[in-house]
Amino acid sequence: MRIPKKRWVMKRWKSELIELGRIGRRNGKAVMNFSDITGEDGIYRIEGSPEMQRSSTFLIRRMMDADLNVSVDKVGNIFGTLRGSDPNLPVVLCGSHLDSVSNGGMFDGVAGVVCSLEALRRIREQQGLLKRNLTLCILMGEEGSAVDEACLGSRAICGLKSYEDVLRLQSYAGTSLQDLLIATGKTGDMVIDRSSLGSFVELHIEQGTVLARRDLSIGVVEGIVGIRTYRVTVEGEGNHAGSTPMNCRRDAFVAVSAFTILLSTWIRDRVEAGSTAVCTVDTVNIMPNSPSVIPSSVVFTIDSRSVDQQELLEIGNFIGEQLENIATSYDVQTSFEVLMDFPPVKLDEGLQRHLEHICGDIGLDHVVIPSGAIHDTMSFASVGIPSAMVFVPSKGGISHSPFEWTDWSALEDGISVLTRFLLEIGNRQ
Ligand SMILES: [Zn+2]
Repeated sequence: MRIPKKRWVMKRWKSELIELGRIGRRNGKAVMNFSDITGEDGIYRIEGSPEMQRSSTFLIRRMMDADLNVSVDKVGNIFGTLRGSDPNLPVVLCGSHLDSVSNGGMFDGVAGVVCSLEALRRIREQQGLLKRNLTLCILMGEEGSAVDEACLGSRAICGLKSYEDVLRLQSYAGTSLQDLLIATGKTGDMVIDRSSLGSFVELHIEQGTVLARRDLSIGVVEGIVGIRTYRVTVEGEGNHAGSTPMNCRRDAFVAVSAFTILLSTWIRDRVEAGSTAVCTVDTVNIMPNSPSVIPSSVVFTIDSRSVDQQELLEIGNFIGEQLENIATSYDVQTSFEVLMDFPPVKLDEGLQRHLEHICGDIGLDHVVIPSGAIHDTMSFASVGIPSAMVFVPSKGGISHSPFEWTDWSALEDGISVLTRFLLEIGNRQ
């Protein structure tokens, strides 16, 4: 007698993550395991791109299949609501973003969207009607890869930037964000009533090494670091690299190099003393950047982060003082400006304890950690909407890279925690 082969059915949320990873990947390859990644096949899902449109269309279809009521707002935030029995109760919002950095990974943002969708499906199928509306949101423009600003969708919802100002932003290619969104068919006329929002929860990959090093699948986030970025200009003097004596030079790049080492050493000393601050010189443009010419000017940016607002200000003061010092030491002129300033945010303690309780109850070891990256959750928390975050591990702490990876089992744990959390909050009177 022939024994029939057992039909293996892939979990729907896993197949959705693999399919979304295929849509954003230029070679269209399905990555199912970490060993499938070659490093030349990252995700390109930039806001306003055709890949973004295909991914959103795919998810909207899945949301409708799950009986969610789908709507889109003026800036392209997508909402899918599982209706509760009392629509007058505050709404429970969950979700994350779908856009990626250039050549990014397949989990940043998308994991939170797909795991939230799966949690809502499980609630609908296994629990029936809850009291509150549960709304999944796909938040527009979190990464800032199309325009020079991040967390656009959540900031519009929270009134931190008007819908009109968001739409007026110019993309790097010189197109208004409004035109980009219209071209990809991703705008609507819905405006969410902020006063109806009772809480927000986001599942996200950790983008750090804490969970992976401790072999834990869940991190409960206590707060999100503040971030201050700066643009610095150093002006020296361009001259012939062969005929200008070393003691007659005003080399802008030498001055910048000395400054970078000073800053890095100073931050490392603070970390030795217990700080968790980080500081990075991350873009450097040298003029004229040409052979045989001493660099005449350098424009670079600095990214500084800390959970402590006072420390962010101290870092800013140090940057100002040291730029003055190198101006004197290297006979150059220096100036700087603040480009972005997000203060640190503490997440809701009650919701944090609730998540910890759920982890304990279902037998998942977890750790309470701060987030070193900014997220849409910051927007909601900063306007007083009780907000929470669940982290799942990033293999090797790597993200914003084709090698970004989170094990399927950790995502399953994340879905379990999220489902239970949404179920309990959604049934609150
Ligand atoms: Zn993200």
